[in-house]
Amino acid sequence: MNYTVCVLPGDGIGPDITAQAVNVLQAVGKRFGHELSFSEHAIGGTAIDSAGHPLPRETTEACRKADAVLLGAVGGPKWDNVDHDLRPEQGLLGIRKALGLFANLRPSLIYPELAQSSCLRPDIVQQGVDLMVLRELTGGIYFGRPKGVRTHDGQRVGINSMVYTEEEIKRIGRKAFEIAGQRRGRLCSVDKANVLDVSRLWREVITELAQEYPQVELSHMYVDNAAMQLVRDPAQFDVIVTGNLFGDILSDEAAIITGSIGLLPSASLGQTRPGLFEPVHGSAPDLAGQDTANPLATILSAAMLCKYGLGLEKEGQAVEDAVQAVLRQGYRTPDLASAGEECVGCSAIGALVLEQLQS
Ligand code: NAD
Repeated sequence: MNYTVCVLPGDGIGPDITAQAVNVLQAVGKRFGHELSFSEHAIGGTAIDSAGHPLPRETTEACRKADAVLLGAVGGPKWDNVDHDLRPEQGLLGIRKALGLFANLRPSLIYPELAQSSCLRPDIVQQGVDLMVLRELTGGIYFGRPKGVRTHDGQRVGINSMVYTEEEIKRIGRKAFEIAGQRRGRLCSVDKANVLDVSRLWREVITELAQEYPQVELSHMYVDNAAMQLVRDPAQFDVIVTGNLFGDILSDEAAIITGSIGLLPSASLGQTRPGLFEPVHGSAPDLAGQDTANPLATILSAAMLCKYGLGLEKEGQAVEDAVQAVLRQGYRTPDLASAGEECVGCSAIGALVLEQLQS
């Protein structure tokens, strides 16, 4: 099959880490007999410098035509004082909007080789942590109306509205059931249905959808309990689906329990291709151009690109296996190394993953 991938390296370490992920995708193409073509476009600060805008029209058009988009990261001190509407982050928000990406996927996996990096007790980590948080990205309280600060009866009142339509719940719900079906077949829907009307509708709609996915076991949990369970017993979770606000908080909690920011990939999906695949971390300007950044989160985002962006399940799995094999052999970038441990740089660890893929 032929696929086109739009690559947006962005700023800081973005070019270093995306270069390694592109090498890996090329190797995947070769090994599994796919024709992958890549085109590179500007976003963020570098786009401000080259085109006067963090998201040039040419970049949006190229992304729309592609089968998948791979992004590095945007931002840096050089652009901290530019006009708010022209900040590098606007490039990121703009491309998510332009592509209609409503589902954000953040896997949280603790590799046994890096168990000591987790902030959880060893006996909890030993149970095995391998979960995915699916966050609704375009609705809920961040976008609902009415909103704003007004004066009422002589005092200021702040208002935001948590609004979800049945359709919005259904489309994220379907993605969640599908992804749970591709994984271990367990889906936990998180809400606050004991207090919020919008959550009662959320629970009703997700429960109705479950009839279409008999192979997936559905459970429900209140968000306050979910926040506790994530640190008490994360092994109980396979896929968690939740709204925008709860997902914002729970996905960060799920990420931090792994203890390794350089290993966290993400995907944002819409109704159709292309999805957007990017590491969770930022542009780490302190490491830019030094060849010391950890590219594994971006390489694992490329694995998600294969699985969830192109439907190439075994290709994505091969990339994940290659990353794990390199970690098992004891190779560490500086951010993963314990004191005194020998380190490899960005391109060196990328080359080791390639070697594994080609072996
Ligand atoms: P950051 O994630 O860039 O860095 C936080 C810390 O983690 C730093 O010490 C950095 O060196 C380290 N780190 C991050 N990625 C790493 C990697 N791959 N390998 C090794 N170490 C890594 O967050 P920040 O410092 O708060 O932000 C820096 C810039 O990135 C800012 O301009 C911010 O706006 C931007 N940012 C962008 C995104 C994005 O593009 N999605 C996300 C967060 C922050």
